[in-house]
Amino acid sequence: MKPRNPWPAAYARLVLALLALVLIGWGTGQWLFVLLLAAAGALVWDFINLRRLEHWLRLTRKLDPPQSLGLWGEIFDGLHRMRMRARERDKQRRNLVRNYRDSIKAMPDATVVLRADYRIDWCNQAARDMLGLQWPRDEGQRISNIFRHPEFVAFLDRDSRETKSLSLPSPVDGRRWLEVRLVPYAKKRHLLLARDTTALRRLETMRSDFVANVSHELRTPLTVVYGVTETLEDGIGDHPELARSVHLLREQAERMKNLVDDLLLLSRLETGDGPRNGEWVDVPSLLGGVAEEARLLSGQRQHRLDLDASPGLLLLGNERELRSAFANLVFNAVHYTPEGGQVQLRWFADAAGGHFQVRDTGIGIEAQHIDRLTERFYRVDNGRSKSRGGTGLGLAIVKHVLMRHGAQLKIDSEPGKGSTFTCSFPPRILRQPLGTREPVRA
Ligand code: ADP
Repeated sequence: MKPRNPWPAAYARLVLALLALVLIGWGTGQWLFVLLLAAAGALVWDFINLRRLEHWLRLTRKLDPPQSLGLWGEIFDGLHRMRMRARERDKQRRNLVRNYRDSIKAMPDATVVLRADYRIDWCNQAARDMLGLQWPRDEGQRISNIFRHPEFVAFLDRDSRETKSLSLPSPVDGRRWLEVRLVPYAKKRHLLLARDTTALRRLETMRSDFVANVSHELRTPLTVVYGVTETLEDGIGDHPELARSVHLLREQAERMKNLVDDLLLLSRLETGDGPRNGEWVDVPSLLGGVAEEARLLSGQRQHRLDLDASPGLLLLGNERELRSAFANLVFNAVHYTPEGGQVQLRWFADAAGGHFQVRDTGIGIEAQHIDRLTERFYRVDNGRSKSRGGTGLGLAIVKHVLMRHGAQLKIDSEPGKGSTFTCSFPPRILRQPLGTREPVRA
């Protein structure tokens, strides 16, 4: 309800008081004395009320204001209403914070609110269970002093945008696995979220173990079948019909062998740890070898193949894995570029890191396929890929190898014009000895 306007009554009281003054002054003839008395009375009244107001604001926690008459009464009532509203708002805000905290407390995922420099502000029960935090003992502690896993400490030091999440064993129970994420918010604050991924990980392991075991079991019989088809092909003699069938058999056996090899490689890449203690790989010379093989692959199709590699620019990693990834990209470029087309390979470094780039003038890829190319068995054109013996696993292998080296794959392509595949490696795994800046061309 809107408070009523006190001013009409105040004016009326003023007019009445002035009228009374005039009457008394006229009746007594003591104008000056009456005027002084009235002014002193008004001053004392205001002083008393000001004093009560100041006392109420400063000393009392009581909601009810002092009682008074006239305008002072209205002012006290107004202040009372303001205090009530502020108290109500305060209560609502407290309830909101309490509800919000209760909902985070009930979350099954660990949530830790971190201040600047990663000091703990608050955590929920799940964080205590999963990360071993103790509350309130650990309040204000740096999270890395409590959760000391080296990968986690490095994760905090790195820009959190660079690595979005991290899989780690729980510090409370090493058999449980956690997926940890760091989400920046407000000014220099972070939310640390951890999710129990033990069951998911177990399923993942079962799936990749299964694929690895099946592939492993298939390998021996396939090698035998392949060997037999080769022998048959050699001794088939004058039987063109039979020769065609045996040739087909050999082709399919070879495809299956490639598929099994790629599946085994993929499951090794998935399950093994990243090449933490890798070696310094001489990428220019590795690429020289890959380029030679690509020329052989091109054969009669006579592609123009150029290699431009920054000499001595080394990469810390696993040579076999890198060779397999780079060769997949280069061979794809040769496969998907028509006769006489151009394939350019570049290996160079800039402030963002080291980049291996394969550019071709081939058939290109439509935009809607690009995001899915690194999925297993994803092919733009099934017939074309299979007819050239493609397994559909090449780019999945590339993605895994790059992930293990902390690198990213970027694909740019225009149908009918060509494609560019760029692998970008972080600067921390690059090395370029001084005095080796002239490019190597092959
Ligand atoms: P595949 O064995 O089929 O080549 P990949 O995983 O290597 O499997 O590639 C997936 C798909 O990406 C291919 O089937 C092909 O359609 C497309 N692709 C890969 N590289 C190129 C390229 N350089 N130009 C055009 N298409 C490409």
